[in-house]
Parts: sequence; structure tokens; C-alpha cells
Amino acid sequence: MQKMIIVSNRLPVSILKTGGKIKVKRSVGGLATGLGSFYKDYKSVWIGWPGIASERIRGEKTVIRELLDEENCAPVFLSQKDVEKYYYGFSNKTLWPLFHYFTQFVIYDDSFWKNYVSVNREFARAVLKVADKDDIIWVHDYQLMLLPMMLRKKLPDNPIGFFLHIPFPAFEVFRTLPWRKEIIEGLLGADLIGFHTYDYATYFLDSVRRLFGYESTLGRINFKDRIIKVDAFPMGIDYDKFANASKDPAVQKSVKSVRRTVGERKVILSVDRMDYTKGILQRLDAYDKFLDTYPQYKGKVTMILVAVPSRSHVEQYASLKKSVDQKVGAINGKHGMIDWTPIHYLYRSLPFNRLTALYLVADIAPITPLRDGMNLVAKEFIATKTDGRGVLILSEMAGAAKELDGALIVNPNSDDELIEALKTAIEMPVKEQVERNRMMQERLKRYTVTHWAQDFIKVLHEVKEMQRNYLSKKLTEEVEEKIVSHFKNSKERLLLLDYDGTLIPFSSKPSYAKPDKRLIALLSALSEVSEVVIVSGRDKDTLERWFGKLNVGLIGEHGVWIKDDGENWREIMPLENEWKASIRPILEYYVDRTPGSFIEEKPFSLVWHYRNVQKELAITRVGELKSVLANLAANLGVEMLDGNKVVEFKNVGINKGRAALHFINKKKWDFMLAAGDDVTDEDLFSVLPNYAYSIKVRRGISVAKYDVESYIQVRNLLEKFVR
Ligand code: UDP
Repeated sequence: MQKMIIVSNRLPVSILKTGGKIKVKRSVGGLATGLGSFYKDYKSVWIGWPGIASERIRGEKTVIRELLDEENCAPVFLSQKDVEKYYYGFSNKTLWPLFHYFTQFVIYDDSFWKNYVSVNREFARAVLKVADKDDIIWVHDYQLMLLPMMLRKKLPDNPIGFFLHIPFPAFEVFRTLPWRKEIIEGLLGADLIGFHTYDYATYFLDSVRRLFGYESTLGRINFKDRIIKVDAFPMGIDYDKFANASKDPAVQKSVKSVRRTVGERKVILSVDRMDYTKGILQRLDAYDKFLDTYPQYKGKVTMILVAVPSRSHVEQYASLKKSVDQKVGAINGKHGMIDWTPIHYLYRSLPFNRLTALYLVADIAPITPLRDGMNLVAKEFIATKTDGRGVLILSEMAGAAKELDGALIVNPNSDDELIEALKTAIEMPVKEQVERNRMMQERLKRYTVTHWAQDFIKVLHEVKEMQRNYLSKKLTEEVEEKIVSHFKNSKERLLLLDYDGTLIPFSSKPSYAKPDKRLIALLSALSEVSEVVIVSGRDKDTLERWFGKLNVGLIGEHGVWIKDDGENWREIMPLENEWKASIRPILEYYVDRTPGSFIEEKPFSLVWHYRNVQKELAITRVGELKSVLANLAANLGVEMLDGNKVVEFKNVGINKGRAALHFINKKKWDFMLAAGDDVTDEDLFSVLPNYAYSIKVRRGISVAKYDVESYIQVRNLLEKFVR
């Protein structure tokens, strides 16, 4: 059975040692839930660190391996030094602050880096120990960014996916990292690289282009001989688990107990790990100023501040904790009354029951990180509120803001915005709360963490399929020989040849790209043994000037004009629908990536509907789709219309393919070959009969049967026909 190998820094189970006894503790996080759905299709193995340094478990590793094996887990053991340098060091003192734009906290330490490399190698060894040829490997997060390439070197064909759970920064920030190239190269070992948001994916592609020069189209990078896909997969939550929490008696009991403490006051709930990216101090500051500005709310509201201990070994975290302690004390001292505490402060991690009880009691949840890859607390809060009540105040710097647009979106650096949002939230009518929340709940219900994981793996399979098609397309010497021999053994031969980029290289000015003598001689020789048609986007006068004297057919202006050998130019009238074959796959791709959207096909048009798509996502996708398709549509002679929640593509019906049909239908050919280099040639390729050869110059997504690197190979092949 094919295996799914999940690799992350931490295993979903921890090994604890108390009183000399080894124990296994499960911690079911979102990721484990999302991946749970694969267990029936694949045999799954999870590889990671069990959370205890090797020095503490000398002589017990075999026992631990066996215990973990029962949980479908395999350990990577880390020494105390690894934990210091790889985990607390490079991961959390270099990458974490850098990727969250806290450049002032970044430590560039060569020994951290070296250890990061060696621990990534250790993970690679652990994966290679269990991986078979077909196994799917999914690597998670910033601690393991070198792993994909380390694995790729040993496993050239396995599907390898990588998902980054934190933001990917803009290039100007990323470039400050001395090991930026190594990091990008490490990631490029994967076939699919996923991010929470489209912005992060764009920043990554930008870094790839600026550091290595690899361009991308539709999030696809042609990296050496492999297509790599980069895209956004916004991670969801286990919706039902949170939506059902209010029915759980343990949760209900906890709700009652919180209610007794806070009375009928409005509850403002703040929940985060104690991390400088979360904007806790700024939030407290705003609350302080809110009470100053609107003293009428003193005694009427109460904040419950949950801060989960995190990385307390790292200096900035320890000092943040101190500052938060002080700030909470200061606010309670300043505003508090005998019968009212402005902030109830919990510095600990709460179990599910108590956390969801707080979500249920809370009227307002200000979640205002300065930077956050996604932020699941925001989603959990909305999912838990099944009565639709509650107001989410959400930072625009959280990945979740891209999806949760029913929240009050704020800039977390602005005191004024936070203060006003608190006031708006307190005063928001219930009806409005319910309307806003219902919309967000719909989305969370659909985009669950399971959906997220399945979507990622589905796209990973698609990328592998794309790579296979791509590889099988290379025009090898063997195929070339076959084509030449077919040409020589046939009588009625048709050659349909694009000009710019296919027979001649591109020039800085179109008029410089005149055919050279050798090309004219070649076309002339070919025209004696076959029917040659130049299928070009150029105007008919230029074509006439350059090729008018040869015995060749000509198609000008992407199929508007046509000229048979020895006859006059004539115009073709619009009619055909071949363009649909080029536009449809791209629209289908957008349907896949944009839940709620669909395609409608009419006799002479294709319509992409997005009225059911979540607003933020729709705005992003419509922009993308239009910029991606603008040129293609123009070249195909297809009109692109921006309608009411639709983008429509309409036949105006002229293209190279339609014009070429004139020559294709002229007689019964026994050899046919077409060559072209850009999207306008796709129409030409798509009207060819099955037996025809089609050659695309340069890589890219094409319906052509074969790819060549440059026009030189096209010319070489044509020369072989007449040699
Ligand atoms: N969480 C928890 N107990 C707590 C507070 C938070 O279990 O007392 C969980 C919460 O349910 C959420 C996760 O911790 O799933 C925090 O994830 P998030 O994406 O919000 O932030 P991160 O900690 O990953 O930066």
C-alpha cells in the first residue's frame, strides 16, 4: 500500500519522562485532524521530534521507537545542542522573526545555520529509512525548509509537497538572510509548495525569480526539468468540533462558572501564544486607552486575557512576558474597582473545554497580531458561536483576514482603530453580528482542515501528472528520426509554421526579425516537396514583402488574412469556436482553486461565474484570471467581458486555427506538421488531426505533442526534410 509520509518538527505525540518512567502523550492539533482523512487511503507514517532531548532518554530509544510505532510515528531524536541551535536558534531566533518582519530580533549565527542543515539531514535520513518509491511525502513548516531538496536528490520521482504555516516575507526582507539562496533551493525540491495566502505565494515566487531568475506562469515554475507548483491553501479548522462544543456538558458547566465570575458584563476575549508577533501589548495599550476615552464602559466590560506560554527560553519571549505582566498589573491598578477587575489574566494553555467555553461567553474577540501566517483562534471563535452572536475584531496582518471579511478589520498598529473597533463591537446590534458571522461560518464549514489537506494532496497529484506529460513531450532524437522518415515516405505533405520565435529568434524591434537568406532557401526547398504555410500574427504587407515570391501559403494577423500560393489575399469571416479549447482549461483551473465558482458554456461563449465565492477571494481571483487571460483572449480574437459577478469570453471567431483549417481541409494529406511558440499557436495545434505532429518551441503548457528548446531545433528538423 502506498504510504503518506508526514514530516514536521514535532510529532503529534510527545514523549514524557516522569519519575524515570516513559509516557506517550497525544496532542491532537488541527494538522493531525486534517490528515486523519488520509488514513483509510494510505498507510500513514508521521516523522518528527518527540519533544524530549536525547540526553534524557539514553538507553531508552528502542522502547520509545516501539511506543511511537504503535501511533504510526517514527522519531527523529534531537540532542540538547540541536534543540538550542536548530530549534530555538535558527528556527525561532532567525527564521521566525525574519518571516514575521521583526528584523530587529533576527540573529544571524553561523553555528545556528550549520546545525539547522545537519538536523534537516537527520530528518532526511529518517524519511529515507521508511520511504518507498511511490510514497507521498508532505513536509511541514519553517523548521524543515531544506528537507525537500535533500529528499529530492535521493527520491527523484516521489511526490513531495511542502507547506509553510507562517508568512513568507516580501523579498526586501527575505534578502537580508545570508542563507536565502539555500532556503529557496531547499524548497524547490518539492513538487508543490503551499502557503496560507496568495500574497505569501506571490512573495515566494518573487524571491525565486529575483534570486534564481526562474519565471513563473500561473504559479508554475519551470525548474530545470521539473514543473513546480506554488499556490495558496488557506488552512481551515475542524468546524464541527467547534460548532458542537456548546452542546458538550463539560463546556456548558465551564460556561456557567465563567459567567458567575464576570456577571452580565460584556466579555472581551484575547487568546494567543505569548509571542511578540501577536500584538498583545498593543492590544492592552488600546484597551487601557479605550477605558480612558470611554469611561462609561468601566465596570461594564471585562477582558479575559489568555496567554499560552511559549518559547520562554528565548530572550524576547521572556521579556515580553514581563512586560505583559506589568501592563496587566498597571491597567488593573489604574482602572480597577473593588467589585470590578478590568483584566482576568491566565498565563497557561487551556484544554478544549475551557477554551471553547470562553469563546462561547465572549462578546468580542480582538485578534490583532502584528503579523500571523493564518490565526486559527479567529476561525475557532467564529465556528463556536452557533447562535451567530459575537464580534470578531481581526488584524489585517493575519492570513485569516483574507477569508474572514465579516470581521471588523483593523490595522493592529493603530490605537485609534483598535479603540474605535472595540466601541463599535460593544454597540453592534445583534442582527448585524449574526449577519456578519453567518457568512463567515458558511466559509469555515466548507473550507475545513480536512478539505484543506485533501485539496493539497489532490493538487500534488495533478502536478505529478503535469510533470509526466511534460517529460514525455521532449522531442528526442529518436522521435525526430521517426518524423523525418515519415516525411520522406509520404507524398502529400503539409507544414504549418509560425514565424516569430519558431523560425527566427525574437528581436528588440519586430522589423529587425527579417528572414535570413538561409531561411528563405530552406522554405524554398521545402515548398518544392510539400505545401508550406506561414501562419503568423504579422500584417499581410510584411508577409507579402518577405515571402510573396516563394511558393508558400500565408496566414496573417492571427488568421484574419489568408493567401493561397499564387493567389490574392482574402479576409476570413468569424465563425468557429476552437478558442474554447484554450480558454476552458484555464477557467477549470480557476474553478478548482476558487470554491463556489463554476463555468457555464454557451454556443459561442464561456462564462466563469463567481457570485458564490467569498468576497476577498473573488477579488483576488478575478484580478488574477483577468491578467492571466487578457493576452490569450486578445490573441485568440476572443472578447473578455466583465459582467455582474461573471467574466465572459465571447466568440469573435478569428484565429490561426480557423484559418489553418482552410489548408488542412484542402486535400487528403499523409504528413502534417505544425510548429509554433506562443499561445496563439495553441489554436493551430488544437485543430490538427490526430496523426499530425505538433511542436511547441520553449516549455509551457501546450496541447502540442512535442516541445523543443528553441527555433534552431525547428530549423534543424526542417533541414533534415530536404537534405
Ligand atoms: N489553543 C489551545 N489552548 C489555549 C489557547 C489556544 O489549545 O489555551 C489552541 C487554539 O485552539 C488554536 C491554537 O492553539 O488551535 C493556536 O493557533 P493559532 O493559529 O491561532 O496561533 P499559533 O499558536 O499557531 O501562532
